[in-house]
Amino acid sequence: MAQYTTEALIIGIKNWGEADKIITLLSPERGRIKAAAFGCRRPKSALAGSLQMFNQVEVQVREGDRLDTIRSCSLLRAYRIMSTDFAAMAYGSFVAETASRLAIENFPQQDMYSRLQEIFEAFGRRNPRVAALAAAYQLLEYSGMQMSYQYCAECNRELEGDGGFAFDLGGALCRDCAGSRRRELGEYGVLAYSGEVREFILQLLELDWHSKPSFTVSGRTLVAAEALLLGYLRHIFEKPLKSLEFIRQIG
Ligand SMILES: [Zn+2]
Repeated sequence: MAQYTTEALIIGIKNWGEADKIITLLSPERGRIKAAAFGCRRPKSALAGSLQMFNQVEVQVREGDRLDTIRSCSLLRAYRIMSTDFAAMAYGSFVAETASRLAIENFPQQDMYSRLQEIFEAFGRRNPRVAALAAAYQLLEYSGMQMSYQYCAECNRELEGDGGFAFDLGGALCRDCAGSRRRELGEYGVLAYSGEVREFILQLLELDWHSKPSFTVSGRTLVAAEALLLGYLRHIFEKPLKSLEFIRQIG
């Protein structure tokens, strides 16, 4: 069986069997990897220490017919805030789960990987709720499932002021296209998309993780941008994210 070594971020962990775990990793060269870590819930396991959520690791993986196996793992970097602050952990789990659903297997994800590393690194210095929202909008840009926010998905015109939004059309709609879709499908055929929300999403997409946060946002705009993102993720994943339950508990 082939064996390979890669650097990766740990973006999902699930208990499995008696003492094992299934680990989801994001690798720059191989995209999403799912592999079993046998015995890693035993206290003496050599894998137990480094195979923790959000860690950056180097893993040696043996490819299997049905399941790959982690042979060894060494820690490159732990993002401490994610294991000491409950809010950072909850919102970080949402970011990791979003990355895990968006990433593709056997496909290089260098950009998504580098961005996720910057995000994890900056997480403790920012409001975790806004950081998670910016992270998810940015990760979508690397997934091939990004939406159009600034230009009408129907006629390509640049939006001014308020418009509409439709997931199945790929994002924003100008006032005219939103109007004609509303006439065709009724009020529920188009979601609300205000100029403020659009400006805010564009700021999130541009957010530089290395510098200090420089914008403020009203609660209403934040909630609207979250609703739009979560609605779209539900639309493409066809099931809710598990980490949202975790966030609700800290709400
Ligand atoms: Zn249009």
